[in-house]
Order: sequence, then C-alpha cells, then structure tokens
Amino acid sequence: MGANEILKALNGSGLNFFLVGESIRVTPPEKLTDEFRSLIREHKTELVALLRKPNAPPPTTAHKFFQMFGSWPWDFSYMESHPGRKSLEPEVVGRMFFHWCPTCGRWAACGDGFNPAKGKLGQWWCARHDPSLAQNGHSGAVHHRGNSLIA
Ligand SMILES: [Zn+2]
Repeated sequence: MGANEILKALNGSGLNFFLVGESIRVTPPEKLTDEFRSLIREHKTELVALLRKPNAPPPTTAHKFFQMFGSWPWDFSYMESHPGRKSLEPEVVGRMFFHWCPTCGRWAACGDGFNPAKGKLGQWWCARHDPSLAQNGHSGAVHHRGNSLIA
C-alpha cells in the first residue's frame, strides 16, 4: 500500500492530517487506532512528502492557518514565535482582534495605523521587531492582549 492509498483509507475513516513541521498531526485523536498509528509510522517519510504542499501560499487568516496546522493561531503560546503566524493579517475573529508579528509570529503588542472606524486594522509588531520602537524607543500605540476586545 502506497502513501496515497494509506491517506485515502485514513481519510475514509474520518481522520484528518496536518503537517506541523516534520510531524504528522492527526485529528480527531480518539479515532487513531494502534493499527493506524503503526501504519503512519511505517510510511511517515512518504506521508510527510505527500502532505507537504510546497506551493501552498502561507496562511493569511486564522481559518487558513487552521487548515494548514490543525490548530488555531491562538492555540500556540502567544509569547513564542510561530512560523505560520508571520503571514497572518491583523484580523477580528469572533469579537477578538488578533495581530501577530510578521517577523517572528509572536503576539504583536505594538501597532501603528489602527483605525477600526475606517476599517484599518493597522500594522503590528512584537516589541522586539517594532521598527519605530527600535528607532526611537516607542511606537506610540501600544496594544496589549487584554484590551483587544472589540466592543
Ligand atoms: Zn517579532
């Protein structure tokens, strides 16, 4: 059985696959039997190659991020960098406003040009990568996670 058939068979049993770095992530985990697990292990290299889509554009929204990583951007630690969050545009999801540093993918606390009345969500960086913070010590607008709620 080739990787293609394995993937088809597992998808047919309701399992979904995501590639996270070099690891294969399977959801929902309760459907993953020992048999499937060893099958995946045995064919891991082929499956990773199959799951990797080199031409897939980087995610720009939380939903695209979820499709690619199998978790929401906010499921990963805010204070850690994450490669998949670098390409995300500032976005309101539910009533929360999410903005990630385009340089490292950490939570971007420093923003510029934020004007929701004009539909502008601005540009955001973490303190480490905020260009104006690096130049003159402060960017002006500082926006913390705690007050990101859009009323
Ligand atoms: Zn950063």
